[in-house]
Amino acid sequence: ERQKHIRNFSIVAHIDHGKSTLADRILEMTDTIPEREMKNQVLDNMDLERERGITIKLNAVELNYQADDGETYIFHLIDTPGHVDFSYEVSRSLAACEGALLVVDATQGVQAQTLANVDLAIDDDLEIIPVINKIDLPSADVDRVKEEIEEMIGLDASDAALASAKTGLGVHDILEKIVHEIPAPTGDLDAPLKALIFDSVYDNYRGVVLNVRVKEGTIKVGDKIQMMSNNKQYEVTEVGVMSPNAVQRDELEAGDVGYVAASIKNIEETRVGDTVTSAIHPAKEPLKGYRKINPMVYSGMYPVDNAKFNDLREALEKLKLNDAALEFTPETSKALGFGFRVGFLGLLHMDVVQERLERDYDLELIMTAPSVDYHVELTDGTEKVIQNPSEMPDMSTVKEIQEPYVKAQIMVPNDYVGAVMELAQAKRGEFDTMEYLDKYRVNIVYEMPLSEIIFDFFDDLKSRTKGYASLDYEIDGYRTSDLVKMDILLNGDPVDALSFIVHRDFAYQRGKDVVNQLKKTIPRQQFEIPIQATIGNKIVARATVKAYRKNVLAKCYGGDITRKRKLLEKQKAGKKRMKAVGSVEVPQEAFMAILNMN
Ligand code: GDP
Ligand code: MG
Repeated sequence: ERQKHIRNFSIVAHIDHGKSTLADRILEMTDTIPEREMKNQVLDNMDLERERGITIKLNAVELNYQADDGETYIFHLIDTPGHVDFSYEVSRSLAACEGALLVVDATQGVQAQTLANVDLAIDDDLEIIPVINKIDLPSADVDRVKEEIEEMIGLDASDAALASAKTGLGVHDILEKIVHEIPAPTGDLDAPLKALIFDSVYDNYRGVVLNVRVKEGTIKVGDKIQMMSNNKQYEVTEVGVMSPNAVQRDELEAGDVGYVAASIKNIEETRVGDTVTSAIHPAKEPLKGYRKINPMVYSGMYPVDNAKFNDLREALEKLKLNDAALEFTPETSKALGFGFRVGFLGLLHMDVVQERLERDYDLELIMTAPSVDYHVELTDGTEKVIQNPSEMPDMSTVKEIQEPYVKAQIMVPNDYVGAVMELAQAKRGEFDTMEYLDKYRVNIVYEMPLSEIIFDFFDDLKSRTKGYASLDYEIDGYRTSDLVKMDILLNGDPVDALSFIVHRDFAYQRGKDVVNQLKKTIPRQQFEIPIQATIGNKIVARATVKAYRKNVLAKCYGGDITRKRKLLEKQKAGKKRMKAVGSVEVPQEAFMAILNMN
């Protein structure tokens, strides 16, 4: 009976089309959050999300809706990120739902991630409710957006909800559509427990807290449960729902979305995508999990203080619980000591992981420039996967190097086709197809090296198209390219953490740029520091950081004591992110030198 009144749904959209704002209105109109506690994008509760105005993590909340038919419905709403780096969060939330609101900005129309996210929802057989948002804006063009939804997605948009998440207009209509169009969950309450873990988080008191969608059976405090992937058993200490703060419940049953704590202290024993079952009456088959996701970029991560290596390992393990796409393996660098090679889904993901580690775990980190992975075939026939450029074997032993390619879809108004093609070609792109989406826009498909896309392609694309282009990409295999390894020497010593792989045609220019960038970022020290870029034994570029002429403190010797202290403090702060590499102090920015150039 209760199950008939449950509706589980996600909100999906291209970034900035208004998902989080719509979630706000829904929470407000169902009195889930008292008015005095309401703030914008209330589900974006990570500091980082609030500061940047983006959703990074999925977030599931339970709310009650009193519908026009007089009945009260239980909604589980899952807000999801829109950025391409976080689409894995989207795919996991969808597996917990029966339906999805597809939000499209009435002034922007269908964009690249609208398509990517709706494809995920269609793959999961979800009921999709189109919502045309921002109709309060004068430039809203509802008819055109309806046409795009029908032509580009193939959904009937004649009855799409027309809304302004900002003013609340049309939101009531959306709530009614959720009741009437999204199917109630099904699932036998008496069957053995099957609950899908779609997210998890580490809590110092309760251990690992699992976010689950119960598909069959029930789960309550005191139950003995078992993970189906490894048969580890636990006793449930707490179950509940987020609303949006944790609210304890006696039990969760088939159809529910909620959390489970079971004094799970050993982090490696839980895995997103695993099925929780009963230890007493275990289910025979696990639920369909998630496809494993592969990182796209890798970077070395080192604690500034070498003694913090184990703290970093622990922090990464805990963060991985809450970030299923994160991968890491230990590595050592001559220059930086002990650290990890960490795999990310993109640069935004990398940036977010670094910030979460530094804020939540109080670590100071040095990150090396991101790199893709390379498949290398040696002349003796052996094959290797290289995730760290410094590990590229000597070129004389290399037969060929393959790099990852992507299929990039760029949606852009007609006027910018020329600008986009010019940019894509400059980034080694090969034209694939171009298709008119409607009277105004085209979809251009290029095959491009991933390494060219992940760095500054998107920023360049945005600036060349006045912000109108949207981009989505997926890996499309590996291809042989003419690549070389560039090494950087500081004071005559090669610094492994600064090595990078570059296409031969760009090598000289890139070498020169990196050397100049390093010269700008490495502070003057007591002695002169030569910087050299080499390919094999050949020097392709050089520069020199001159020695200090004067002691910084000499100037204020005997002078104002507070000024002197300030100066010292400033120096100390500046030093924080320095790492001694041989005899040279190298700041964090230097390791990112390859990123800071155009
Ligand atoms: P998300 O990235 O999809 O979660 O988008 P947000 O909910 O963060 O919204 C992005 C921006 O659009 C914010 O500045 C919102 O205030 C604004 N916005 C969202 N919905 C509306 C709307 O209906 N009308 C107007 N005018 N602005 C909106
Ligand atoms: Mg958002």
